[in-house]
Amino acid sequence: MSDVSTLVEQARAGQARAVARLISLVEDDSPELRSVAGLLAPLAGRARVLGLTGPPGVGKSTSTSMLVSAFRARDLRVGVLAIDPSSPFSGGALLGDRIRMHSHTVDAGVFIRSMATRGALGGLATATPQAVRVLDAAGFDVVLVETVGVGQSEVDIVALADTTVVLLAPGMGDGIQAAKAGILEVADVFVVNKADRDGADQTVRDLRHALSLGRRESGPSWRPPIVRTVATTGAGADDLLTALDGHHEWLATHGELEARRIRRAASEIEAIAVASLRARLGGVNGGEALAGLAKRVAAGETDPYTAADQLTGGV
Ligand code: GDP
Repeated sequence: MSDVSTLVEQARAGQARAVARLISLVEDDSPELRSVAGLLAPLAGRARVLGLTGPPGVGKSTSTSMLVSAFRARDLRVGVLAIDPSSPFSGGALLGDRIRMHSHTVDAGVFIRSMATRGALGGLATATPQAVRVLDAAGFDVVLVETVGVGQSEVDIVALADTTVVLLAPGMGDGIQAAKAGILEVADVFVVNKADRDGADQTVRDLRHALSLGRRESGPSWRPPIVRTVATTGAGADDLLTALDGHHEWLATHGELEARRIRRAASEIEAIAVASLRARLGGVNGGEALAGLAKRVAAGETDPYTAADQLTGGV
């Protein structure tokens, strides 16, 4: 316990190694996590949390690096979580891509961490928000969560951010197609990256069209701006920051910042509760209770509702 509080103190004092160790506790689903979470709770809640997603190769890593430079120019401390969903889609390329960001690694105001969460309780859904809390509590002004937008779970993760940025690029015909799988709805800001390439105008038009068809209006309305960038040169970085600031201000003036943070907390609690319930169910007599009930349901001796009640009643 005292070990853990020393770690938290060191992290708040700006020691990158302590921050890294705390995130490892999250990744490993360490038993110490509960006391860590308790210590972090009153310290977090200050950071701006940005989610960045888009299909592989669209320029997420390069754009993240561009944004880090832009925030550093404002003298803000930036924490980056590059989430590797360990999905068959992303293969091994992601981690290699991160290496491009190493120009920032000598900067004490920047912390970059790739996270793979194969083993964690509840996977990414549980681990990512806890890692965000670590960076938030450690005093980073901006926390950037970057992940490949290949599936709904990744979309859900970035959607936990205060502001979600969706990247597209010209010549990726399936970009907007993939984006239809939920991404259009969660985006607060669109970036058409690789604006130096032919087809950027077309991509912007396609996007506008898709938005005019698919956007559902609920609650106070924010119209997501479309920003063009060339992440490799930094062109458009100012426009992107302006769009991000605009959204942040909109959130604050409409009470949405608070509302999003409450939604984020609700899904954190739910993910932890579901995962621990599942772990406990599997653990009841080594899963024997479940196995026994399953046989009885399969044999028609009882129904699955009654069996579920019996199972959960026993935990
Ligand atoms: P990620 O997979 O989404 O993280 O994409 P990366 O950031 O790794 O970028 C994929 C490739 O596109 C790299 O070769 C980048 O150098 C290149 N790239 C990124 N942004 C731009 C851009 O604005 N214009 C051009 N022409 N290439 C870019």
